[in-house]
Amino acid sequence: MRPLLAVNNLRVYYHTAQGPVKAVQDVSFDLQAGERLGLIGESGSGKSTLALAIMRLIKPPGRIEAGEVWLDGTPVLSLSEEQMRQLRLASIALISQGAMNSLNPVMRVRDQILDGLHDHGLRLSRSEAEERVGELLEWVGLQRSVADMFPHELSGGMKQRVCIAIAISLHPKVIIADEPTSALDVVVQRQVMETLRRVQEDLAASVILIGHDMGLTAQFADRVGIMYAGRLVESGPVGDIFSQPRHPYSQLLIASLPTLEKKGVFQGIAGFPPSLLELPPGCVFHPRCPYAMERCSREEPQLRPVGPRHQAACHLLAEGQEVTA
Ligand code: SF4
Repeated sequence: MRPLLAVNNLRVYYHTAQGPVKAVQDVSFDLQAGERLGLIGESGSGKSTLALAIMRLIKPPGRIEAGEVWLDGTPVLSLSEEQMRQLRLASIALISQGAMNSLNPVMRVRDQILDGLHDHGLRLSRSEAEERVGELLEWVGLQRSVADMFPHELSGGMKQRVCIAIAISLHPKVIIADEPTSALDVVVQRQVMETLRRVQEDLAASVILIGHDMGLTAQFADRVGIMYAGRLVESGPVGDIFSQPRHPYSQLLIASLPTLEKKGVFQGIAGFPPSLLELPPGCVFHPRCPYAMERCSREEPQLRPVGPRHQAACHLLAEGQEVTA
């Protein structure tokens, strides 16, 4: 079955006076129709840059250096700017990190929702526009009266729902949600995630959920990708990733999660992610990896199948050794 979204060997660098910051390095993955993919990694692992690259929203000094993005058979990276503008929102929508803070403070919610529709050539009568906005607001669990409000009159959770309403206003096939619940309290986080899940199911859309909250991702995603220093180091079904992570980084990440026994303390992983300006040779994780071998500092491991739709990039797996957390 042809995937709805296919990302092949995508590479994104930011060109600085100190040299290229290698934010995304040869990342490949597929997304099937209706699938929910969670992308997890520490900050600076390339998740947000990957989202912007798929949307063709990388700004200089950033540049897509190589790779392909196919959306439902359309080669996204070859489209003109105008074609890309039409594709955004109509076929693929991004709820960017901090989206709720980028709502226009001097525009009513109604006009912010209608802006995107007008931008895509939709001409609605006053009553049709009112009905469309009302339906969208109810869809994300808000009252129709919110249309008359300004962003400063809304709570954080309400603002994020407005962002979801804008993102789904043209019924996109793919929604990318970058840290959609950061800066919200735990109860509101759950409510926003439930809203996202409900609209995803109603639309039968695919979602890429980007974040570092493993708990939220585990509850939401069908499949999980783990990123480290711009690379996808493991991907697989959510149950396999959490019960049988195969890459040492994934194992440490999951082992570091707070549990009842650990009394809610986040354990963390020893060491720091490398500078993307000066990546270590070989496996980029080798300076922090408890299993590093001589080969790891000179040869970069490639993703290889370790189970059904489960891949990981580690030399230990290539040598048939088991790694256990
Ligand atoms: Fe660790 Fe080597 Fe595997 Fe990298 S390739 S994760 S350094 S064992």
